Amino acid sequence: MSLELRSLSQQYGSLRALSDVTFQVEDGEILAVLGPSGSGKTTLLDLLAGLTTPVSGEIRMGERTLSRPGYALPPEQRNIGFVFQDFALWPHMTVSQTVAFPLTMRHISAHERNARVAEILSLVHLDGYGERYPHELSGGQRQRVAIARALAPHPAVVLLDEPMSNLDARLREQMRMQIADALRHEHVTAVYVTHDRMEALSVADRIAILDEGQLVQVGTPEELYRRPRSAFVAGFLGPAALVPARVLVADHDRVQIVTATGVVASAAAPPSCAPGQEGEWLVRPEHLQIVEDAQNADVLLQAHVRSAAYVGSHWQLALELPGCPGLELVCHHELRIDPQADVSLSVAPERTWFMP
Ligand code: ADP
Ligand code: MG
Repeated sequence: MSLELRSLSQQYGSLRALSDVTFQVEDGEILAVLGPSGSGKTTLLDLLAGLTTPVSGEIRMGERTLSRPGYALPPEQRNIGFVFQDFALWPHMTVSQTVAFPLTMRHISAHERNARVAEILSLVHLDGYGERYPHELSGGQRQRVAIARALAPHPAVVLLDEPMSNLDARLREQMRMQIADALRHEHVTAVYVTHDRMEALSVADRIAILDEGQLVQVGTPEELYRRPRSAFVAGFLGPAALVPARVLVADHDRVQIVTATGVVASAAAPPSCAPGQEGEWLVRPEHLQIVEDAQNADVLLQAHVRSAAYVGSHWQLALELPGCPGLELVCHHELRIDPQADVSLSVAPERTWFMP
C-alpha cells in the first residue's frame, strides 16, 4: 500500500520536531529515513503508527486518511507492523507463539496460522527455532523474530525504528541483506529508520534525509550519494571533500570549474549552473588516485599527506590541499605513504559533482 505524507509537522512544547515534511512511499517500496540522532525520525514513525497526532499536515495510506490535526486512526486499525529498536519480544512466549500471536488476534484458523508461521520463520532463516524462548536466542535471532512477528499478518506497511542498533557491527552487515530480502519477498511497503548510512544505502530503494526536523533530500541511494544537493547530504552519506570552486563554462549538466587552488576541472552539475557561479566541488576518495607519472593524468591536484591509516583492504590517507586550509581530502592507496610527503593525484572528472 502506498503512503503519502503531506506538509507534516510535529511540535513538543516550543520544539519543532518535524517541519512541513512531504514525501510519498510507493507500494512495495523500502524507504529509509536517514538522519542524525534527534533529527525527528522516531517522531515521524510515531505519527505513521498512530501513536500521536500531527500539529499540521496529513498522512494518507492508499485512499484513506490515517492522521490529520485532531484525528488519528487508532494503531490497531492501520494494518501496520512495527519492529522496535529493542525488539520488544515477550519473554514468556516461544518463537512460534510470538509469530502466531498477531494471527490469533485476527482469528486466523489454526491450520492457516501454523502454515504462515512456518513460512515466515523459514523466510527469516529461523526454521527449527520455533520452540525456543527469547533468552535462548542470539541478538540477531531475536531481531529476526521481531521481523517475523511484524510480517506474519501481511501488514500493508512495516515501520522499523533503528532495528539493528543493538547488534554488533559484523552482525549488522550480515543482517542488512537478510532484512531487505525478507521485506522484498513479502512485497511490503517499509519505512526503515536508521542513522547508519551504510544501512540506508544498502537496504533502501530510496532514502529520505532528515536534518533537525526538515526533509533535506529524497532520492535513490545513488542519486543522493553522487548528486547531493547540500554539504550536509554529501557528508552524511560518505567521506566527502568539498573544494571551493567557481564555474567557468556551463553546458547542460556539465561544468568546467576552477578551484580555489587554481586547478581547472570538469564535473557533473545541476542544469541550472551559470558561469561565474560559486559553489563546492565534491570529491570522494574513490575519485582520486595517486599518480607517479603526472604527464598522462586527467586533472591533477597537488596534496600533502597528513596521516596514513591501514584499514585492511588499503591504506587510508588524509591529505591537505595547499591553499585550502581546514579541508581534508581522503584517498585510498595500496601502499603506505609517509606523512609529510607531497603527492600528485589524478581526479576522475566525469565522476565528480559541482554543487552550487
Ligand atoms: P530521532 O529519532 O531522530 O533521534 P526524535 O524524533 O526522537 O529523533 O526526536 C526529535 C526531537 O524531538 C529531539 O530534539 C527530541 O529531544 C525531541 N523529542 C522527542 N520526543 C519528545 C517528547 N515526547 N517530548 C519532548 N521532546 C521530544
Ligand atoms: Mg529515534
